[in-house]
Amino acid sequence: MRGLSFYAGDWVGEKMETQIVMPKPYSGFLAQVEALSGQKIYRCNQCAKCTAGCPAAQDMDFPPRRAMRALQLGLGAELLRSSAIWTCLYCRTCSVRCPMEIDVDRVLEAVRLLAVAQGQPSLEARVVGFHRIFLRLLRWGGRIYDLGLGGWFNLSTGRPWANMGLFVALVSKGRMSFRPLKVKASREVRAIFARVKGMEATPPSAS
Ligand code: SF4
Ligand code: SF4
Repeated sequence: MRGLSFYAGDWVGEKMETQIVMPKPYSGFLAQVEALSGQKIYRCNQCAKCTAGCPAAQDMDFPPRRAMRALQLGLGAELLRSSAIWTCLYCRTCSVRCPMEIDVDRVLEAVRLLAVAQGQPSLEARVVGFHRIFLRLLRWGGRIYDLGLGGWFNLSTGRPWANMGLFVALVSKGRMSFRPLKVKASREVRAIFARVKGMEATPPSAS
């Protein structure tokens, strides 16, 4: 991490290392995130209302307030590799709570899209794999085939018998279908996917 290290203990008598990170000039990465998300990152005043309401914050290395600060300080590379962009549930609680009306979930989504575009290795490789399988099944049938999703995910992660208790419970309650189900408009769903793929192929403006 770039920055200047010093000991806060120089002033307060404690051996606690503090790192001062010098802000970079307006970076290309930040401009890309703003273009993709439509949000102004420097509007964030670090009030932390987003993190206080985030149901996934305890599992994130960069909870939403910290993610915003990282972007402000030019630490986009750290955020690209973070687990936070994959553990975000996209529940939008952060955005609803933000007094500056920043759509924080869209900011995290923009970083996630850029991570995918750059082939960035993730700390949450299993979550990334889960997303891919989920989207493939959705593209195929227009809805999620639970058995296919669970089975494919288990096989792809080398744990064929994982969550077997959950599987038995769902089947016994009639909550899991063995038969793949497709929506009638599956062709339209595939057209939507093709359209989004075309949009993603257009890189966001960095200006
Ligand atoms: S709630 Fe909004 S202003 Fe407050 S820290 Fe989060 S993003 Fe920044
Ligand atoms: S959208 Fe993501 S970051 Fe925001 S509150 Fe929900 S889980 Fe947390």
